[in-house]
Formats: sequence, C-alpha cells, structure tokens
Amino acid sequence: MLGKMGLRPYSIYEIRDLTRGEPDSPRIASFKLRPKDGSKFSFVPGMFSSLFLNPDDKLFRSYSIASSPTDDQMEFMIELINGRFTSQLANLKVGDEIFVSEPRGAFLYEPTDAHSDLFLAAGIGIAPFFSMLRYLKGKEMKRDVYLFYSVKHKDDIVNPSELEGFKELGLNIIYTVTRDPENALWKGERGRINTQMIQNHVSDYVSRTVYLCGGIKFVKDIVTELKDRGVKDEDIKRDIWGE
Ligand SMILES: Cc1cc2nc3c(=O)[nH]c(=O)nc-3n(C[C@H](O)[C@H](O)[C@H](O)COP(=O)(O)OP(=O)(O)OC[C@H]3O[C@@H](n4cnc5c(N)ncnc54)[C@H](O)[C@@H]3O)c2cc1C
Repeated sequence: MLGKMGLRPYSIYEIRDLTRGEPDSPRIASFKLRPKDGSKFSFVPGMFSSLFLNPDDKLFRSYSIASSPTDDQMEFMIELINGRFTSQLANLKVGDEIFVSEPRGAFLYEPTDAHSDLFLAAGIGIAPFFSMLRYLKGKEMKRDVYLFYSVKHKDDIVNPSELEGFKELGLNIIYTVTRDPENALWKGERGRINTQMIQNHVSDYVSRTVYLCGGIKFVKDIVTELKDRGVKDEDIKRDIWGE
C-alpha cells in the first residue's frame, strides 16, 4: 500500500481544537504534520491527501489540505464526527506517526487574471479555502475574492483572526449563521448560502469563477441555483466529499 499511493510517514507536531461553540456545534481539530524524511509534497491548493494510521491497513480517509504549498508543514482541518476513522484520529497525540498519500484531486485553485473568484464554503468545507488563501498570502498576490462562509453558530468560525487578516489581500468575507437565534450583536447574514444572498453582496457573481466545498446537499443545491442564474458549468469548480 505504501508504494501504491505514494505514502510517506509524517509526525504530528500540533493538535488544536478550532471550534468552541454550542452543544450541536461541530468539533473541528487542526492536525499539523511534518515529514519524517524532510521531503515536501508539491501540490496545488484545493488538492487532498489520504491519511492512514497504519500503512498496512486498508482503512484510510481523504482530507483536503488546509496548508499552502508555500508552507513547510502540512495541515488538515478535520471534523471529529466519531466515525470509524475520526474516532481514531481523536485519540492521536503530538509525536504520533501518521501516513500521508501523494496529494491529488481535480478541485484545483489556479488563479487567473481573466476572472475574479467567488468562494463558497459550508462548515468544514472551509478547509481547502485556507490552503488557497494561505497560498495567495505566501505569494503576496492581491486578488478580488469574495468568500461566503456558513456555520451553524458564530463560534464555529475557524481561525477568525487569520481570516480577517486575509482582507489585506483583497478578500471580502460574508459570514452566515444557520442556527444562532436572533441577536442584535451579529452583523453577518443568516441562513444557508443562496444566490439571492450572493447577489446582495456581489453584483457581478455570474462572471466569476466559483469554487465551492461543503456537504453534498449544499453543493448540489447551489450548483443548480448558480446554473439557473447563468453561471457556466465550466466556471463552477466543486469539491464533493460525500456519497
Ligand atoms: C476529497 C475529500 C476531501 C475531504 N476533506 C475533508 C476535510 O478537509 N475535513 C473533514 O473533516 N472531512 C473531509 N472529508 C471527509 C472524510 O474523508 C471522512 O469521510 C470523514 O472524516 C468521516 O470519516 P469517518 O471514518 O470518521 O466516518 P465514517 O465512519 O466513514 O462515516 C460516518 C458517516 O458520517 C458521514 N459524514 C462524513 N463526514 C461528515 C461530516 N463532516 N459531518 C457529518 N457527517 C459526515 C459519512 O457520510 C457517513 O455516513 C473529505 C472527503 C473527501 C472524499
């Protein structure tokens, strides 16, 4: 298996809880890894790797890379849902070994000057966008990017101060909460991301390249809406994680 997927041993040097919300909030943890042999994988922001706890085992799961190709370490942001694999990830400690496959995938962030970008992220679907934004920052590239990010509760926003820092690059962020009760202190949007919400903030969205990542229902619904409003299929790049 090791050779087949280009697995390499990494060691975990940091594990951090990223969300501290309500009882129904997701529990998202960041895992930062360093290659044991010192060699770096090259990849394009948006790609994923498969993680194995034991290279001889058939059990693995795939995770979007949240770090930038310009970073020395690899980071994954993982929702610990207590499933077959995530229940084992939840028991890992700093210093433990983990095996990482060669990065792959078709959800590739390749910024071009011809189009501005529209990023749509639901929940843990924010992970690949961290890779893209960190890449822009690492390359000191300013771009006209709108990010819509939906979370159940405002405390579920991952790395809020890092996200705010990306505004220096030209990033505009629209947060939306789907479960928080009415509260005068919340200045963002409410409800799921839809084209009406997008239109209210980004009048030229139909001419942008759209990148979207989240649960399968979110991806399917928003793709249908975007196409109905005239966004071309080739301008919609999507990462589909579920069945
Ligand atoms: C290309 C790709 C990239 C991915 N990137 C990420 C990532 O960056 N971060 C991340 O957390 N996950 C990501 N996933 C999902 C991940 O691969 C696993 O499916 C997830 O961690 C659950 O694995 P498990 O073995 O714990 O659950 P399992 O025991 O396999 O499944 C339990 C059930 O939970 C469902 N499920 C899976 N994910 C979720 C979720 N987030 N919330 C609720 N139900 C869920 C499954 O469909 C299944 O029905 C990605 C998947 C793919 C294919």
